[in-house]
Amino acid sequence: MAVMSPKNCLSFDVEEHFQVSAFESPMRRRHWGQFESRVEKNTEKLLRLLADNEVRATFFVLGWVAERYPSLIRRIASGGHEVASHGYGHELITSQTPVAFREDIRKAKGILENILSGPILGYRAPSFSITKATMWATQILVEEGYGYDSSIFPVLHDRYGVPSANPEVHQLLTASGLLWEVPPSTVKYMGVRLPIAGGGYFRLYPYMVLRAFLKKLEGQGSSLVMYMHPWEFDPDQPRMEGSLLSQLRHYLNLDKTECRMRALLQDFSFAPIRQVFSPIERMYHERLLSRPLAGQ
Ligand SMILES: [Zn+2]
Repeated sequence: MAVMSPKNCLSFDVEEHFQVSAFESPMRRRHWGQFESRVEKNTEKLLRLLADNEVRATFFVLGWVAERYPSLIRRIASGGHEVASHGYGHELITSQTPVAFREDIRKAKGILENILSGPILGYRAPSFSITKATMWATQILVEEGYGYDSSIFPVLHDRYGVPSANPEVHQLLTASGLLWEVPPSTVKYMGVRLPIAGGGYFRLYPYMVLRAFLKKLEGQGSSLVMYMHPWEFDPDQPRMEGSLLSQLRHYLNLDKTECRMRALLQDFSFAPIRQVFSPIERMYHERLLSRPLAGQ
C-alpha cells in the first residue's frame, strides 16, 4: 500500500497551567514566577506520547516559556516537530494596543529563532483572540515576518471567535501583504457551526461523538486542525481559583485526555501544519534561502 502523507494537523499551545486566559488577572500575572512550573514535565510527557505513536505536530510555544526552557524547545524541534509562536506574554490581543502586540510577537519570534537558528513562521494568539475588533493584528503579523496564523476561530463564543470567518485554510489579504490562515476545525451540525478541534471540546464530548464529527469532516475532504495544551495531560495540576465556568472548562475530564489522545492517534493520521500545507512549507524554504549568510 502506498504511504500517503497525512493531511490532518495536530498542534499544541505550550504554556503553563496558570497562564490560561480563563484564570487571568493582573494580580496573578505579577506572581507567575511564584507558581510551580509544570510545563517542561508536561511537554516531555507529550513528546514521549507522540514519539511512541510516531506522530509529529506543531508546537505554538509561548516566548515566556522558551526563555526559561530553551533546551525544551530544542528537544521539540529535534523530535521532528514544527515550532511556532504563541506570542510572548499570553496577553489577549483584545486587551492590547497594536504597539504592545507588535512588541509581544516580535519578542517571541526573536527568542525562538535565536534558540533554533531558523525561521519561525506560525503564530497562534492567546485564546484565539483575533476577532473582528482585533483584525488589525493580521497586518502586524505580516510586517513582523510571520507567514501564517491559526487564531481565527469561526464560531460564536463569549471570549473569541468570528462566526462569519472562512472555516477552511485560506489566504488573508492585509494592507502589508498575504497571510495564510489555518483555522481550528469546526463542523456544521443542524445549522450551527460547532467547535470540535480540541481543548475543552476534546474533553467535553464523548470520544465516539467527537470521532464521528471528525470522520465526517475528513470525509468531506477537509484537513483537520486540532489543538491541545500540555497542561491538559496533567490531571494532578494544582487547582486555581476562578469562576465556576472557568473551573469547568479547565479541569473537566483532565484524567481522560491522555487515553483519548491515544485513541485519536490510532484513528487519524497527523502531521505538522507546515508539512500538510505545501505553500507554508515553501515559505520556510524561501525564508531559509533569503537569510543572510552567517559570518563564520
Ligand atoms: Zn494559550
